[in-house]
Amino acid sequence: MSQQLCILQINDTHAYLEPHQELFWEGDQAVYREAGGYARIATLFSQARAEHPDAVIALDNGDTIHGTYAGVHSRGEAFIEPLNALGLDGMTAHWEFAYGPAQFGKIVQALHYPMLAINCYDKDSDELVFPPYRILERAGIRIGVIGIAATIIDKTMPPHFSTGLRFTLGRDELPGHIRHLRETEKVDLIVVLSHLGFPQEVKLAEQVDGIDVLLSGHTHNRVYDAKVINGAIIMQSGCHGSFVGRLDLEIEAGRIREWRHRLLVVDQSIPADPAMQQMIDDIMAPHRAMLERVVGHTATALNRNTVLEATMDNLLLQAIAEAAGTKIAFSNGWRYGAPVIPGPMTMNDLWNIVPTNPPISVVELSGRELWDMMEENLERTFACDPYQQMGGYVKRCLGVNIYIKVENKPGLRIQRFFVDGELLDPERSYTCAFITEQGVPAKYGSNRRHLEIHAIEALERYLARHDPANANLHGSVVAV
Ligand SMILES: [Zn+2]
Repeated sequence: MSQQLCILQINDTHAYLEPHQELFWEGDQAVYREAGGYARIATLFSQARAEHPDAVIALDNGDTIHGTYAGVHSRGEAFIEPLNALGLDGMTAHWEFAYGPAQFGKIVQALHYPMLAINCYDKDSDELVFPPYRILERAGIRIGVIGIAATIIDKTMPPHFSTGLRFTLGRDELPGHIRHLRETEKVDLIVVLSHLGFPQEVKLAEQVDGIDVLLSGHTHNRVYDAKVINGAIIMQSGCHGSFVGRLDLEIEAGRIREWRHRLLVVDQSIPADPAMQQMIDDIMAPHRAMLERVVGHTATALNRNTVLEATMDNLLLQAIAEAAGTKIAFSNGWRYGAPVIPGPMTMNDLWNIVPTNPPISVVELSGRELWDMMEENLERTFACDPYQQMGGYVKRCLGVNIYIKVENKPGLRIQRFFVDGELLDPERSYTCAFITEQGVPAKYGSNRRHLEIHAIEALERYLARHDPANANLHGSVVAV
């Protein structure tokens, strides 16, 4: 006799409690529609549980409690109650560590489900910090859920993310856990809950046998049709809570006999769950007046949905450069940040654009350093070996025009590099504004200094002086 099992996935929700604009590619254009919101996600979860009582598991790939004002203001704590109300069965993590491992540990304690990671070690004891897996029983099926946290937390993220911790890729640990779960714990199904990124997870599935379902995270892929790699069904469900992934399995004698995958859009057709809506209204009430304040207008639709250059980052870079009085500016290629459609911009939009609100910094970089920094970043983004991909999108740049061959080997991608319309001079020193160590890593440049002004204040000032603001693409990085 076969059994039904329904797996629900959220990933990279980035602290978007409420509906927001989302970009959808339609034919030759980007179309913006409202999507997301915990109250609608709660409804989707309840509907699945009503259809399949005792046969649903709901998992979260992480990047859950950081990315909006509600996240950073409460250092993630505002999310404890709504996350527990969603009735999740497990999570793994990445940006959760932005509040420091101690604060994240406190949140994990308050959640009703475990944080799972086979690859997060205490540096002193070399012990695992979190349980590597959990076993769930649904409708007579034993399911082993194995967590893999982001491996880049101690490699490319700010150092305070990983105080006292060490992260591995998880590839060497994974086969042992699968064997243990299959042979000793006698599970029927192995589900891997990962935050490595889609390219990395595909390689992992090719290398490690015995995975039944691989829930992928981190790279914001919208996998409309789940892929099968070496027997593992792989899915990822966008970002910002704009999508929920749903996988319905029919299991017979411990094997998947049939399956159906759907990428559900969390759109206006889904009614809000009243209890969740009340919870979110209570969380947001103290901040509403501040967040809804209009600070200017944008004439350009702002988004972060393109890998080489994006309009949202151009607005941010223009504000940074103007505040610092430079022509050149850099910021990290963040993937998260809900779009803003042309029209009024609010404080809420600014917090969504740059929730870490870092100080603006200035540094002198030689032409040679500018070249090397961009080559390093291109390799981290486009490395041929997915395990070497450590980036988000390409570093965001203003005041430069770089023509690249994406497919070339490391260090050989840049064809032409212009600064303010002139060819880059390797011997010359250039004054550059930036935000965060990911914008200009510490090993580059001299005379590095922080200004008094932070990113959000710079955006406010910029929008006050340029009304409406334009943030079109400048061809800062062009694939040739
Ligand atoms: Zn991530």
